[in-house]
Amino acid sequence: DYGRREVDPEVDEIITKEKNRQFRSLELIASENFTSRAVMETVGSCLTNKYSEGLPGKRYYGGNEFIDQLETLCQNRALATFRLDSTKWGVNVQPLSGSPANFAVYTAILKPHDRIMGLDLPHGGHLSHGFMTAKRRVSGTSIYFESMPYRLDESTGIVDYDMLEKTALLFRPKLIIAGASAYSRDFDYPRMRKIADSVGAFLMMDMAHISGLVAASVLADPFEYCDIVTTTTHKSLRGPRGGMIFFKKDPVNGVELESAINNAVFPGLQGGPHNHTIGGLAVCLKHAQSPEFKAYQKRVVANCRSLANRLVELGFKLVSGGSDNHLVLVDLRPLGMDGARVEKILDMASITLNKNSVPGDKSALVPGGIRIGTPAMTTRGLSEKDFVVVADLIKEGVEITMEAKKLVSGTKLGEFTKLVTSPEFPLRERVES
Ligand code: PLP
Repeated sequence: DYGRREVDPEVDEIITKEKNRQFRSLELIASENFTSRAVMETVGSCLTNKYSEGLPGKRYYGGNEFIDQLETLCQNRALATFRLDSTKWGVNVQPLSGSPANFAVYTAILKPHDRIMGLDLPHGGHLSHGFMTAKRRVSGTSIYFESMPYRLDESTGIVDYDMLEKTALLFRPKLIIAGASAYSRDFDYPRMRKIADSVGAFLMMDMAHISGLVAASVLADPFEYCDIVTTTTHKSLRGPRGGMIFFKKDPVNGVELESAINNAVFPGLQGGPHNHTIGGLAVCLKHAQSPEFKAYQKRVVANCRSLANRLVELGFKLVSGGSDNHLVLVDLRPLGMDGARVEKILDMASITLNKNSVPGDKSALVPGGIRIGTPAMTTRGLSEKDFVVVADLIKEGVEITMEAKKLVSGTKLGEFTKLVTSPEFPLRERVES
């Protein structure tokens, strides 16, 4: 039985290159992190070999004595991590990732064409919250359900709760979804609960981005107000790629969430759980209950404040003016710049972040902003002072991008990319230094 290097040097070489890229670059993608060696060892373990359709004690396959122990341990740790009373809350740890977790919730509590309201994607929401454009129903969520997004107040960059309330009263959704992929402020759960109650809707929070911060009580607790809470496990929570669904045990709106959600995950949408991921998640949740984890999450937020303050000092415009969490959203449009070009130049300088829509944007392919997150580099040990330097480097990258843009005759992104990736690009040395 040979190892990867002997069996498949081609894949081994690609992994080595990716490992070097991760090591070398400033990783600022807000949804990424570096999980621990203990989690990675578990994900790469014999747990991947086992089929275990069903739940602990109720499986469709033999040989699950230890897998049952593992999944029960993972469930207990998940509840403990978020300080939940197991008589009031349950959890399913089998969703393969965040989008499947959300779809399992919709499958559990909605009928086809029922109405939902989530934050619009161009305003920071996630695809799986019902994204559609004027021309196309993009996400499966908007294909199978009727979606009416709520949005930010563009003058403040904060969720427009008044408009959400007015729209909900007219649209009468069955589900309201809190949570976002590119929103630098916390959610007003009491207000959202009130709005949901006024129309008899379920309230779900997708805390994928901020679950690590919620675990460490650095942000408000969604469990106090929501009926269902979903999350990915690989962002600020710093675990393996996966998903979880937490649900209230008492019936909500006449629905037994526990059986509805468990049945929606399996057999509704998935087959065998990924036991290697569930094992990795159990290890992650052990980390998440430690004092070190809490200290780490506090640093994530402090580092983000430092980054935000420096960016503002340097003259950048931030959506909502700052950040309460782990990310900032920079609006580059006042500089006559877009996120796609800046992402490209920074990538060449081994600074990894992503272009992002900002409120009022016209194009998703060439959006006006960039999203910058602090979880990954905080794991790598960067401090508040270091994030001042990160902001300065981003400023330099934006300046180079502006100079490069002037060198291109056309306005198309393709022309720009062709120039900056060609050997003749005159600013290459500056980018690489
Ligand atoms: N929910 C939110 C808020 C997200 O930001 C994301 C991913 O970025 C997801 C769900 C989807 O997670 P996954 O990519 O694991 O399907």
